[in-house]
Amino acid sequence: MEPRSLRAPEPLLFEVSRPGRRGYDLPPLDVPVEGHNTLDARYLREDIDGFPELSEVDVVRHYTRLSRLNYAIDLGLYPLGSCTMKYNPKVNEKVARLPGFADAHPQVAEEMIQGCLRLMHSLERALCAICGMDRFTLQPAAGAQGEQTGILMVRAYHQERGNPRRVVLIPDSAHGTNPASAHLAGYRVEQIASNERGCIDLGALRRRVGEDVAVLMLTNPNTLGVFEGEIEEAARALHDKGALLYMDGANLNAFVGQARPGDMGVDVHHLNLHKTFSTPHGGGGPGSGPVGVKRILEPFLPVPTVEREGDRLRFQHDRPGSIGKIRSFHGNFGMFVRAYAFILAHGPAGLKRMSETAVLNANYLRKRLEGTYHLPYGAPSLHEVVFSDRNLEATGVRTLDVAKRLMDYGFHPPTIYFPLIVRGALMIEPTETESREELDAFVAAMLAIDAEARRDPGLVTSAPHTTPIRRLDETAAARNPVLRWRPRGKES
Ligand SMILES: *Cc1c(COP(=O)(O)O)cnc(C)c1O
Repeated sequence: MEPRSLRAPEPLLFEVSRPGRRGYDLPPLDVPVEGHNTLDARYLREDIDGFPELSEVDVVRHYTRLSRLNYAIDLGLYPLGSCTMKYNPKVNEKVARLPGFADAHPQVAEEMIQGCLRLMHSLERALCAICGMDRFTLQPAAGAQGEQTGILMVRAYHQERGNPRRVVLIPDSAHGTNPASAHLAGYRVEQIASNERGCIDLGALRRRVGEDVAVLMLTNPNTLGVFEGEIEEAARALHDKGALLYMDGANLNAFVGQARPGDMGVDVHHLNLHKTFSTPHGGGGPGSGPVGVKRILEPFLPVPTVEREGDRLRFQHDRPGSIGKIRSFHGNFGMFVRAYAFILAHGPAGLKRMSETAVLNANYLRKRLEGTYHLPYGAPSLHEVVFSDRNLEATGVRTLDVAKRLMDYGFHPPTIYFPLIVRGALMIEPTETESREELDAFVAAMLAIDAEARRDPGLVTSAPHTTPIRRLDETAAARNPVLRWRPRGKES
């Protein structure tokens, strides 16, 4: 018999099922069944073929073992660049579970959910103050949906002026969701090159912007973690031709409390509550991508908005210029509660300190690693830093190998091969929630991997060695995914 390891792959419940095992142990029924509220026999299923039969302890151990295979922010640093995987304070969870919030049905009468409406209204006011915008919609369920909402509002704005225009300009460093959102809104996407600092090339923008351009989508700080210092000039160049400026504000964690998109000439932007304001994300979980607008775009906000009427609050559905509904009900309400709790707990001074610390942590990692790993862009970093695998070229170790080897050291790998303008990119974002000790442990792992690559590259290129599943064939996984489980012996 093979010895069992706690790191062995966990079988499915179907595979460990044993006939006759039960998850409960009750005395036999000693009252007649007939005449009680039992379901009519024709609605009862005789048997479920292959239904797993397990004891309670089997089930508990199965799920506990699975939970231990998961890497989470509650286990350690999660330096996934662009994703802002900060720690989510447990108090957020506590307030989100208050029955008045958690049990509010989305179709309950407005008089009965004044508290929920007040939270939405207050969150909107807080976001307006933080970002320097006039209004926010809280409805989009993610950053990407926020982008689409924003671009649809831009389209409605131009349409009202008689011509929706044809083109959306996007820098070559942008997140892939930007061109996707523009395309979904019916626009043709044109790329604008970056300059040697990794920022938008203002000359190229000025040459291209014309009456056919609807909007520029600019990420600030951009995906290299570099602040777009000429954003005001970009806004002026666009506004001179009647075009608008959309800011992808997913990286807002870099300057919350320091600067405001609304003061930079931005007309519309989304932000990610699940990044900047600490709500759980990843794995496609619930998110929230509120969109802030200047007055000129307010008529086009999706419905409903939350409006004050005397001392009452209400949903306003009747907005003739609105782009309409973009999501069922009122958005991911539980995320609003968490984000608002986070904002109130920090206050203006706390939020300012938060972004300062996020930038400090990223720059600490940059300083400790830039002598070893290649830094493709030398411009000052804000909240994240992008390295490449160029210094490892002679060893044959690539970015993917470094990422895999990090798992053996107990870290989630950073974002890799993004942004696309950096070959072999390693994009590292520590966020403000990491201690000096945790950052030092990460640095030590990165330096150890560099040393291993030079001494014993095979060790790195065959990593990971300590995870339940070893190196996967990523191409086969993408090209030939096996998505259906079949019992052992019946795999084909
Ligand atoms: C995360 C991110 C997005 C998309 O946000 P989702 O909530 O994942 O849809 C867009 N742009 C940038 C720069 C991002 O980092």
